[in-house]
Amino acid sequence: MNDFSYTRPSHPTEAISALLSQSDALYLGGGTNLIDHLKLGVVSPSQLVDVRYLGLDKISSDSRAVTIGAGATNSAVAYHHEIQNHFPVLSEAILAGASPQLRNVATTAGNLLQKTRCTYFRDIHSACNKRVPGSGCSAIAGFNRSHAILGVSSACIATHPSDMAVALTALGAVIHVQDSSGVRKIPIESFYVPYGEDPAKENILKRGDLIIAVEVPQTPWFVHSRYVKARDRSSYEFALASAAVAVDLDGGKIRNSRIALGGVATKPWRAHAAEAALVGQTATIAAFRAAAEAELASATAQKDNGYKIELSKRVIVKALQEAADVRGA
Ligand SMILES: Cc1cc2nc3c(=O)[nH]c(=O)nc-3n(C[C@H](O)[C@H](O)[C@H](O)COP(=O)(O)OP(=O)(O)OC[C@H]3O[C@@H](n4cnc5c(N)ncnc54)[C@H](O)[C@@H]3O)c2cc1C
Repeated sequence: MNDFSYTRPSHPTEAISALLSQSDALYLGGGTNLIDHLKLGVVSPSQLVDVRYLGLDKISSDSRAVTIGAGATNSAVAYHHEIQNHFPVLSEAILAGASPQLRNVATTAGNLLQKTRCTYFRDIHSACNKRVPGSGCSAIAGFNRSHAILGVSSACIATHPSDMAVALTALGAVIHVQDSSGVRKIPIESFYVPYGEDPAKENILKRGDLIIAVEVPQTPWFVHSRYVKARDRSSYEFALASAAVAVDLDGGKIRNSRIALGGVATKPWRAHAAEAALVGQTATIAAFRAAAEAELASATAQKDNGYKIELSKRVIVKALQEAADVRGA
């Protein structure tokens, strides 16, 4: 690991100035992802700016929204009474990820900005357009069982790893970002960008931008929301395919729904085609399956990950069944 300096500011504006003072400085949250990357040589910053002492760890609410401070730990969010009751999908998604020890230190902003678990990205001896733009993609011709089937480009097929971001995408969260001129609010769907030819660019943040909070709009029917995650082992493992769903039912009919997918796409994937297919339908397994088929129609399989297409459909159906309380095989 390279030598680096460490600074611990106590105000967001100080943190932004400290970050901008060194061209390769990075913000440090809980460090559960970034410190791995320092050890692996994926990044070698000359300075880390610790953002855990900025007073950004509060969770507050009013009738309009619940606002989660960027520094709130994953555990604090998952076990927050109002989040568990109003947005169970968010609590379930967080608790389906990592381990209790990791969740106790990992922060909300760090979770949203964690990097892909693509083994070629984490191995500095492999070609990777995301780590070294223009170097090629080892995953496309390599072992790609865990890679993406939605949103892929010819430059990168790495999945976005965060479970929390998938739930926040379903819930239509808004990310508050501060820079030296003020705060702007970005809907999560515009926050993550498609890979295109430059997979190193994963979101719209520019250098120095500090995430300060995430706002989740209070929507009564989000109480009917669930997270279903398929993975190789039942804990301490990333998603092969996951679905965050919320359903608004009018009797047995679906008035509205929100569906987002994880583990299968290059960013947290809002399933607009599935949502559109459900509007006005009676909540049945057949309708859920048709919606899942509509969403996965655009999926592209690689050599080793074709199974994810069917797995994603099943995960969507199961999550909708649970959220809408529809029994059956
Ligand atoms: C063994 C293991 C298993 C895991 N399993 C899962 C899983 O199943 N599901 C899942 O979702 N996650 C999983 N994780 C990942 C874990 O959730 C992340 O490592 C964690 O959420 C990152 O948060 P952090 O605060 O530690 O981020 P850090 O490592 O501190 O930072 C991550 C990134 O965010 C940037 N950053 C931090 N704060 C800010 C800010 N306020 N503004 C701007 N940039 C900022 C940093 O510069 C860095 O680029 C796992 C991790 C491990 C090690």
